[in-house]
Parts: sequence; structure tokens; C-alpha cells
Amino acid sequence: MGLLTIGAFAKASRLSPKALRLYDELGLLPPARVDPANGYRFYDPAQLERARLVAWLRRLGMPLARIREVCERTAPVAAEEVRVFWAGVEADTAVRRDLAAFLIDHLSGKDSMMTHNGKPLAIRYAALSDVGLVRESNQDAVYAGSRLLAVADGFGAEGARAGAAAIDALKRLEEESISAGSLLNVLGDAVERANQAVRGIVSSDTPAGGRPAADGGTTLTAMLWTGSAMALVHIGDSRAYLLRDGELFRITTDHTHVQAMVDEGRITVEEAASHPQRALLVRALTGGAECDPDTHLHDARPGDRYLLCSDGLSGVVADEELRRVASTAGDPERTVRELIALAVDLGGPDNVSCAVADVAVPREH
Ligand code: MG
Repeated sequence: MGLLTIGAFAKASRLSPKALRLYDELGLLPPARVDPANGYRFYDPAQLERARLVAWLRRLGMPLARIREVCERTAPVAAEEVRVFWAGVEADTAVRRDLAAFLIDHLSGKDSMMTHNGKPLAIRYAALSDVGLVRESNQDAVYAGSRLLAVADGFGAEGARAGAAAIDALKRLEEESISAGSLLNVLGDAVERANQAVRGIVSSDTPAGGRPAADGGTTLTAMLWTGSAMALVHIGDSRAYLLRDGELFRITTDHTHVQAMVDEGRITVEEAASHPQRALLVRALTGGAECDPDTHLHDARPGDRYLLCSDGLSGVVADEELRRVASTAGDPERTVRELIALAVDLGGPDNVSCAVADVAVPREH
């Protein structure tokens, strides 16, 4: 069978001629031959399989640049790429599902976020930070109050001031009266204030795009307690965990170079843990023009325990050990002390900080 005109190939592949021209320009599906005289494109029937794969991947919603990568892989690797892509879509959908549920409640006037069975719940909390055994100064900052928990891990020459300033900028949230409907906006504004505070400290030559500058910045992981939910903002590689029914769930994603490689299936979680570049951040508060935190809402249950920590804890203490201590140490004060002692006993290579909040079990009347 000879070469097909773009019209015939479009029909056979169920892609439009317009799409075929675009995919040619992007190097995704170049025609077998282009007539040098009139520029007409001709396709080999053997290209149909690739064309159909492109069409299916488009239906999945995969971006064109990623489709090109998938098409260049062998079938087993391409299969893995599609699996990784879809896992990301589902994770993103889960975050948006929480947000949608929240908006539905808010718009239907239930405002169920603020109370549990009509009564606001209280939290018990504690926070502690330690310089560790290796670093000369402590660039972490940590805070716990009746509504706000926050951990910041500063880096660079002005890291300590950047982290402290970021948390200070959030403390106003302890006082503000916040309706459920305004919660996400309020948090977004608070992070913007924190970023501006960091900008005031690190030098003004931070590049646009918010990538970490050499002279400093900070991670920021913070939770605002509403009475029945934790609203979370997170940027960097500090972490938040939830201990529920004896299980420890990590509820943040590290904004690190190695996590991105794990998400893309290029390295395993085990390889990431010992990777030489594991501390390299792809997102942080640096005072740059853009700050792009993850934000989500977590419906709390009485008895839940939330744990925030810097990588001086999570990078040193194994998850299973974290779970064991977090579930057996007792009240928040004892728990933060024990967790920090654990990291220090393991060599304390970094500053180590954590904050713990327990959602109280309401008394029966
Ligand atoms: Mg650290």
C-alpha cells in the first residue's frame, strides 16, 4: 500500500487534518514524506498505530509533550508511563473532590466544616525544635497554637530569619474570624503574606518563578484548625502526617527533585530516600514572584492526631518508627519530645522540629 494523503490518513486514524498538522509541528507524528514543491504531507499506513495511540492518549487528557515521551518508549516502559500519569490524575482528582465537597457544603449553607455534630471541637497541641548534633544553628521554626500549627525549614544565609518570618506572618490567623467559605482565600492570602515577609529578608535578586535562590528561603507546612477540619497549606519538603486508627498517613507531597523523579517512575521510593540530591527543592518560599503552595482540606475526626515535621525528623526516622512513637508516646508534649529525641539519637544530622495536634474527643452530656 502506498502513502496516504493527509485526508485519507486523517480518516483512517480518526484524527483531524488540523490535529495531524499540529502533531507534525510538535514532532509527535511527522509525515513519512512532505512534497517539497507544494508542502503536502503524506503518511505511511504503518504510522496508523502510533496515530491511534496519540488519539487515545489525548482522550486520557495527557499533555502533548508527555505523549511524545510515551510514543518514544518501548511498550512496557510506555505502559508504566501511562500508569504513572493516571496515578497523578487520580491524586489530583482526590484533592479537587475534597474541595468540591467543601464548596457544596458551603453553598448549601451547611458550613459543616466549622463544627462536629453542631459543636466545635478543640485541639490539644505542642511543638518543639532542636538544633540537632551537627548543625551550628537552628534554621527551623515551629509553632503550635489553638488554631494554627506550622513548621518552616529555612535554608541559605538568611534561612533562620526567613522561616521565622514566614510563621510570624501566619500567626494572625489565630485571631481572625474566618468563615468556612473564606477559608481557602484566607489561607492563600496568608501564604502570600509569608512569601512577602521572606522577600523582605532575602536579597531582591530572587529569580521569577519562585525557585529557591542561593541566598535563602524556607519551606512552609501549616494547618489551620476550623473546629472540624484542618486546612493545609504546604510548600517544600517539610511534611504533615495524620495518625488515625493506629495508621500513619502522609498527607503532603515533598516538593523535591527526587519526589518528581519518583512520580515519573524514574527512581523508587527506596532510592529517593538515599539519593544525594534528596534535599534539592523544586518549590519553596523564596520571596519570588510566584509562590505555588498545595492547599487542601482535611475532614477531621475526634481522636485524630496531626503531626507536622521538618525533614530533620522525616529524613532520619523511618515511617514505621514515626508511627510507633506517634501512637504510643502519650500527650502532644511527650510526643514531640520523644520524636525529637529519636532523631537526635540517630545522629541528629539536621535541625529537627515537630508540632503535634490531637483532635479532642467531645465529652458526652
Ligand atoms: Mg531540614
